[in-house]
Amino acid sequence: MTVILPGATLGVMGGGQLGRMFVHAAQRMGYFTAVLDPDPASPAGLVSHYHIQTGYLDEQGLAQLMQRSAAITTEFENVPANALVTLGAHRPVAPGAEAVAVAQHRGQEKAHFVRCGVRCAPYALVETPEQLEAVGDDLLPGVLKTSRLGYDGKGQVRVTTREELARAWEELKQVPCVLEKLLPLAAECSVIVARSHDGNVVHLPPQLNLHRGGILAVTQVYAGALPPAREREAIAAARAIAEGLRYIGVLCVEFFILEDGALVVNEIAPRPHNSGHYSIEACDISQFELQVRTLAGLPLVAPRQHSPAVMLNLLGDLWFARGEKETTPPWNEVLALPGAHLHLYGKLSARPGRKMGHLTVTGPDVESVRATAAKAAGLLGIGPF
Ligand code: ADP
Ligand code: MG
Repeated sequence: MTVILPGATLGVMGGGQLGRMFVHAAQRMGYFTAVLDPDPASPAGLVSHYHIQTGYLDEQGLAQLMQRSAAITTEFENVPANALVTLGAHRPVAPGAEAVAVAQHRGQEKAHFVRCGVRCAPYALVETPEQLEAVGDDLLPGVLKTSRLGYDGKGQVRVTTREELARAWEELKQVPCVLEKLLPLAAECSVIVARSHDGNVVHLPPQLNLHRGGILAVTQVYAGALPPAREREAIAAARAIAEGLRYIGVLCVEFFILEDGALVVNEIAPRPHNSGHYSIEACDISQFELQVRTLAGLPLVAPRQHSPAVMLNLLGDLWFARGEKETTPPWNEVLALPGAHLHLYGKLSARPGRKMGHLTVTGPDVESVRATAAKAAGLLGIGPF
């Protein structure tokens, strides 16, 4: 691949907050950017040089994106695979359609983990009544998850008995699903890797993640947050998963750490990830710069974390923490805390569960970062962690 140097235009499918932070990273390095997203007020569209406001399968929109862009990436995992195939026929597209297709389907994703020799939760496909019938009792209690389009805990139901399982599948409109055994989790973590066209792989340090109600709430990244042996294992597994896909771009691999200490892979996201946002301030190369570098064929240099970090997700709920009326959270007070970095995505209305922004706290040592993050959480109405 020829290197695409600053001055060229980089395109992105999707205009959410991940696209916005990609655009920021690309622009900082001197690229122009083009975003395709139907929403006139999309977070990335608002800050991009070009915003193509069409659907993801709109032929004219895709043609415009190709015309503008020297290479194209994606920022959400449910971008139609066909759109990537169309784009990929004419422009470098990273990640490629095939890798994205695997990440879009929980069944294919798990089959890939098995192929790579990485342990995942015991599971069974539930796509037909016969498969539902054949589910082994050892998978109960379990979590029934739609194979496609699930995110932030949506499209999944916990079930204890076979009757509940049958009812849950009906509730999910009998779309193709995966039933996973419910595992006893001690913690959750993730690793972000970036792989270049020539097969070079670098990674960010493993991230300790706390989810609440199926949505990421807090990410902590510093020495001692996770057992070092699990960190090494998670990095090796994430690299194997990326290499097995011949992946090009930024990939996030989510893991469970079980009560007995075992590491189990959960799922992958073919893009930068909410748990990697801390890298903007805490690392010398962020996950979004890694996305720019892999897309443009620039050298991949191992990122170095220079500050311990705690990231708090700012969900729409915080706008309703002081009663039913929507009120702006006390940003003034939060910004008075040393090392607090506020990111708001420019979304016009707050809704419970909606990702409005995030706050990253960095500092000279783990104790002060944790203490500052706890203060920020208290000011914002985020529960202790
Ligand atoms: P999403 O695509 O919505 O992120 P996940 O599969 O990552 O879906 O599930 C969301 C959360 O639900 C996980 O982060 C974890 O906390 C919990 N969870 C999911 N699967 C299991 C499981 N098999 N056992 C225990 N907890 C699970
Ligand atoms: Mg997840």
